[in-house]
Amino acid sequence: MKIVIASNNAKKRREIEKILSTLNISVVSAEETQCVDVIEDGETFAENAKKKAEAFSVANKLPALADDSGLCVAALADAPGVFSSRYAGENASDAENNAKLLEAMKGIENRTAHFVCSLCLVFPDGQASVTAEGNVNGYILSEPDGAEGFGYDPLFYSLDLHKSFAGADTEEKASVSHRGRALRIFAEKLAQCV
Ligand code: IMP
Repeated sequence: MKIVIASNNAKKRREIEKILSTLNISVVSAEETQCVDVIEDGETFAENAKKKAEAFSVANKLPALADDSGLCVAALADAPGVFSSRYAGENASDAENNAKLLEAMKGIENRTAHFVCSLCLVFPDGQASVTAEGNVNGYILSEPDGAEGFGYDPLFYSLDLHKSFAGADTEEKASVSHRGRALRIFAEKLAQCV
């Protein structure tokens, strides 16, 4: 089965493609994908993922897989959550979002955090969907560490890997990440319904 990935985020897309390639699911290239700008105004990761998948599926007339994900910090009442990509404002860079997070965490002892990834695959007839969710636990470092990955990876210390996500290579990160976990659950569910 061929699917499109409903994301305009090149780095996230690369992670998804890499994991799907190990799961025998083929993906339409970014160049061949009709991209759509979707307003992510859902209250949950799952709502946003569904919205993105529906829009890309209609535009591409193919099954579309969307990932909505973000960082939830316990001491900040699970912020930035669904606002992760725009925590420091609309079109904020990763560096700006990380700087805002470090500022918000100043003086806070409980630095527990987790990433969430909500996946939704929608078929073009809109009739069926396959969903999956993955989580990974860690804590927020007091300064950035590592150069890999994207988003909040330099500030996220993984309890599974015993290092920051930005200090891990793509395979290591995928082996424990919210996205890797969600995609493996997703692939199992998909295999049962196609
Ligand atoms: P989305 O594209 O609306 O789902 O936004 C996801 C945002 O959450 C990204 O822009 C990052 O800021 C953050 N995020 C999600 N997954 C990861 C990850 O694996 N590493 C670091 N940051 C992530």
